[in-house]
Amino acid sequence: MAKIEVVTGDITTRKVDAIVNAANSTMLGGGGVDGAIHRAAGKELYEECLKVPEGPGGRCAAGQCVVTGAGRLPCKKVIHTVGPVYTDGANNAKILENCYRNCLAAAEREGLASIAFPNISTGIYGYPLREAAEVAIRAVRETLPKTPSVKHVMFVCFNRENYQIYQDLLNNGE
Ligand code: ADP
Repeated sequence: MAKIEVVTGDITTRKVDAIVNAANSTMLGGGGVDGAIHRAAGKELYEECLKVPEGPGGRCAAGQCVVTGAGRLPCKKVIHTVGPVYTDGANNAKILENCYRNCLAAAEREGLASIAFPNISTGIYGYPLREAAEVAIRAVRETLPKTPSVKHVMFVCFNRENYQIYQDLLNNGE
């Protein structure tokens, strides 16, 4: 079974095979982690994103993912995924779950061994932190047996609150 780890800090510095970007459907950058990734990766990443064809849901629809190179980042690939904008009563959990599942499946297709996830949708998109962490951990645990090339999953938390939530959930085996 792959190792699941929780760390704090800036995901752009992680020397893993792939970091996941909590992008928006334009894939052309934005605030939060998306902005940080594009700033650190430089214009090569932006230009690669521009070339991704636009579909009905933009370059990347909610719950889906697109793999690109990593520009100047120390990782090999960026997997861009679009989380749900949190709204009451909508299909948030399913979309968020699909983000994690599809990113792992993409890592498997690319033969990648290590992947770092930010806390998708918990910033500007407003997903409650604990609920989002529960969805993330469950989706990753359920998908890993089907993605044997992925040996190491890292949840990169940008603040203590998220870090503590992930520690509690992972250590309590929930
Ligand atoms: P979303 O639009 O999906 O909510 P955000 O980028 O606003 O995306 O937030 C997602 C999560 O990423 C938040 O928990 C935020 O604190 C975190 N975050 C912001 N910058 C970074 C970074 N450089 N590295 C890792 N996580 C980050």
